[in-house]
Amino acid sequence: GEALAVSARVAPLGSRLVLLLVEDLTEARRIEAVRRDFVANVSHELKTPVGALSLLSEAVMDASDDPEAVQRFAGRMQIEATRLTNLVQELIDLSRVQNDDPLEDAEPVRVDELVAEAIDRCRHQAGTKQITMAAGGTADLHVWGNRGQLAAALGNLVENAVNYSPVRTRVGIAARRITAPGGDLIELAVTDQGIGISDKDKERIFERFYRVDPARSRATGGTGLGLAIVKHVAASHGGEVTVWSAEGQGSTFTLRLPEAAAARAARDRDRDRA
Ligand code: ADP
Repeated sequence: GEALAVSARVAPLGSRLVLLLVEDLTEARRIEAVRRDFVANVSHELKTPVGALSLLSEAVMDASDDPEAVQRFAGRMQIEATRLTNLVQELIDLSRVQNDDPLEDAEPVRVDELVAEAIDRCRHQAGTKQITMAAGGTADLHVWGNRGQLAAALGNLVENAVNYSPVRTRVGIAARRITAPGGDLIELAVTDQGIGISDKDKERIFERFYRVDPARSRATGGTGLGLAIVKHVAASHGGEVTVWSAEGQGSTFTLRLPEAAAARAARDRDRDRA
């Protein structure tokens, strides 16, 4: 009787342990698969512009007695080279946000400056598409974190809003402070009147290299890494990024980040305790 009772007590524990081990292995395999996919994706993404550059340089050599053709090919080489530069830069940004602890040199960052920087970054592209950009509510707000990473995150959202919108539309950036029990948050909402995103794609757009329409993304210089960077920055700052969208109507990407004074107070409390 005793033995039975003991084994009845141990058996569930044993199976739970086995389950944990299996889950652990499955998780390790999943991480390995993600890593392998990432390397394969990077290789593929690099191959496309490099292949094009190689073909175009051959074409230039063959067309050496046709200055007009040389001009044309050189122009396309420049586009491919820009694509390659963008990709390498985004890969560097991604590895930086994944490896550096943003809170190590965190500071209060002015929201109006972040927003102005993001708008500046897209000014040219927005101008050629006659897209109006407007920001509101940014005065006197501060978020807590790594300035460069936060600028990259917001910049990517505004850049996407401009890229995935038709001509003569509006892109708005609205900021506000939200009172929350765990410490106040700053909400930054980027709204466009663009092509929108289906429910099915909404789940995947934050994955590295995932694009709804790869041709369209490439045409605008997209790399498929922007939203992966945004998601990483948000999470590592103790915030989040969410999306609302209606196909054909537009999208709103919302970034919620710890408010500076609240985050600093929380950090100081933790330090005092330690
Ligand atoms: P990309 O470099 O392709 O823009 P992102 O990671 O920034 O890569 O975005 C992933 C995909 O999500 C894009 O290719 C696009 O299909 C979709 N997307 C992102 N932002 C928007 C938006 N504001 N409106 C519509 N689609 C968007």
